[in-house]
Amino acid sequence: MHSPTPPTGNLLLAALSPDDRAQVERCLEPVGLPTGKVLYEPGERMEHAYFPISGVISMVSDMEQGTVEVGTVGREGMLGIPILLLSASTTTRAFMQVPGQGWRCSAADLLRCTTEVPAFSRLLHRYMLALFEQVAQSAACNRLHTLEERCARWLLMVHDRVGDEVLPLKQSFLADMLGVHRPAVTLAAGSLQTAGLIRYSRGRVHILDRPSLEQAACACYRVVSDSFARLRNEPATV
Ligand SMILES: [Zn+2]
Repeated sequence: MHSPTPPTGNLLLAALSPDDRAQVERCLEPVGLPTGKVLYEPGERMEHAYFPISGVISMVSDMEQGTVEVGTVGREGMLGIPILLLSASTTTRAFMQVPGQGWRCSAADLLRCTTEVPAFSRLLHRYMLALFEQVAQSAACNRLHTLEERCARWLLMVHDRVGDEVLPLKQSFLADMLGVHRPAVTLAAGSLQTAGLIRYSRGRVHILDRPSLEQAACACYRVVSDSFARLRNEPATV
């Protein structure tokens, strides 16, 4: 069974040269990221940017009809793009969907670091594009792909970021993330379970057959994963 590499660090920071990384790390402090911890509230000042090394952050839109996830951040990325765009606040709420650990730096330090370390600035700009592509792909995915395909895709994204076969996910969370009511997600997860791809029990999803889960997911999973891999592996054009 394929297993993602266990989380050992933040992949954006790991993509920097040792000298650049040492300069950036001077601004970082370790931070615990327990389940449910709210990192940003809509309209409130963003004090810090976050670089997870484990766990999963969900960015959600709270609407009258319910909550839906609009973006996901794990060790492949960072939370705090609006700070780079010189905004003091954001319209989305960000919270820990799956607990983890990470690094954080103040908004002022992030801006100073991107000025002092040009490679860091270029990397974060490319990450911004990859995150935009994730959000754009999700918008199309939510409109066109079946709930079962989207459920499989979302579980794969979380599996990649958690690096463990057991994902601590309540079914109500899963419904919120997919923007559907709980009975619908019960059906979709039930069908993946019947096919032997996952096992769902007491707020935990066990990934049993990752290759088949990839087959069950829509093409969006691969499009977004490739986009994040490209950002780290291809040289920047400027
Ligand atoms: Zn899709």
